[in-house]
Amino acid sequence: MSTIKKDLLVIGGGSGGVRAARVAAGHGARVMLVEEHRLGGTCVIRGCVPKKLMVYASRFAAEMQDAAGFGWEIGATRFDWGVLGAAVNREVNRLEALYGGMLERAGVEVVRDRAVFAGPHTVELARSGATIQADHILVATGAVPAGPQDIPGGQWIENSNQFFGWTTQPRRVVIQGAGYIALEFASILRLLGSEVTLVMRGAQVLRGFDGEVRAHLQAALIESGIHIVAEAELARLDRCAATGILSVHLSNGMVLTADAVLGATGRRPNTADLRLGNAGVQADARGAVVVSDQACTTAPGIYAVGDVANAAALTPIAIQDGQALADRLFGSGLLPNRSRFTPTAVFTTPEVGTVGHSEEAALAEFPRDIDVFVSRFHPMKARLSGRSGQILMKLVVHRPTDRVIGAHMVGPEAGELIQLIAAAMQAGTRKADLDATLAVHPTVAEEFVMMRQAVRRYPAP
Ligand code: FAD
Ligand code: NDP
Repeated sequence: MSTIKKDLLVIGGGSGGVRAARVAAGHGARVMLVEEHRLGGTCVIRGCVPKKLMVYASRFAAEMQDAAGFGWEIGATRFDWGVLGAAVNREVNRLEALYGGMLERAGVEVVRDRAVFAGPHTVELARSGATIQADHILVATGAVPAGPQDIPGGQWIENSNQFFGWTTQPRRVVIQGAGYIALEFASILRLLGSEVTLVMRGAQVLRGFDGEVRAHLQAALIESGIHIVAEAELARLDRCAATGILSVHLSNGMVLTADAVLGATGRRPNTADLRLGNAGVQADARGAVVVSDQACTTAPGIYAVGDVANAAALTPIAIQDGQALADRLFGSGLLPNRSRFTPTAVFTTPEVGTVGHSEEAALAEFPRDIDVFVSRFHPMKARLSGRSGQILMKLVVHRPTDRVIGAHMVGPEAGELIQLIAAAMQAGTRKADLDATLAVHPTVAEEFVMMRQAVRRYPAP
């Protein structure tokens, strides 16, 4: 079997790998990208994209209900899970083809195979048996759902990958976890009509987020009809062979009946079958590739970006790091201007948008210097529809510099608004700059430039 030589070999055709391959080829490098499954990776095939399309689908229910308050008479409505699934698949297929075309036009050689390390600069392809040698190798193999869980009946717990293959909508769903995936999927399923019970081991959803955001979201999710069982774990599952119905036994003695159980208890870096040891690449206890801030691993000429490298598992981070690596190796060699903050959204309904310090993190870092501005209000749109629920908007300000170091929102389009506040924060915005900004009226976003009175000052005067 012949040995193929390349300047850059990219393992994994997801967000980070595709960007690095395309940019490196654009700089003139000879690039091969090996993908064992589908181009686009988690985000496009079984993550952000199909999820967001389902979020859109789920929100029509409320829009139709609200329309009555504005004079619309809407007849009988019906949701068809199969129609949505087929439409989502068509869009995912379109995007996958787009990625393939983009790589081809950039001159990247795409190989459908599974790569494993055979030596420091050598990778073997599991299916074809070919050997590739490259000066630079990028590991961009992403992450996979944690599990399966070691409890009796744990094999009946499905994960987010399996969720996207469901051909029928379960009537009763138990979801384990209280992070991004558990909450987003709980909202989607609930608004599409399933009965949803969320079982979480903690007392509150979204550990690590701002405390006020967590409490606000949890109350809103309960109000949307999601049952939350806190401080409990799954202990055992029994499945009736005749009906497929599951009995879910919890650590607190409760027993839930479900047609499907979804586990969303985190993801682990996808390194188990890569034979990193053959190349001298170190991984940590979770299996994440250990990298420097320039994506270098412990082996010369081998790099890692994205979910496999233990960064915050978000698409824009994988893309940013893939782009930066390709530019550094084959382009100007300059280090990029990096984002100082990591904005993120949880696409629940209501949505969460957040960037920078939570109130708790700000206090831990600057215990004597924090002002907190909070606004809660019933949106104008809900006045006529009669829909309950408030929007939460919040700014965390470092008093000595007047810099806005945290912004948080729970409410419609929170992700969209937080994106713009993140841009302002990246530019170093001060609270005085927001105060001086003219409002766009009437909007929800104007509240971010209208908060004049701190609701909490630390230390208290
Ligand atoms: P991936 O996109 O996972 O790509 C890795 C690729 O490597 C895969 O295609 C895999 O098949 C391939 N591969 C693995 N091993 C090998 C091998 N040995 N040989 C060849 N190929 C291999 N992030 C957001 O920012 N916003 C969101 O709304 C969002 N929603 C999400 C929803 C869900 C349900 C999930 C699971 C994740 C979501 N994420 C979201 C996270 C986001 O999808 C990931 O952070 C991002 O895809 C990581 O990109 P990556 O390039 O590191 O890895
Ligand atoms: P998260 O880390 O967000 O949440 C994991 C949840 O599982 C937590 O509630 C955690 O509880 C719970 N958990 C962990 N281990 C156990 C256990 N053994 N038993 C019971 N509960 C457990 O992971 P996800 O799987 O939801 O998502 C993975 C990552 O993907 C996210 O962190 C995010 O980076 C990315 N993602 C981003 C999205 C977006 O940008 N909108 C959407 C979806 C995913 P506890 O809090 O107590 O630790």
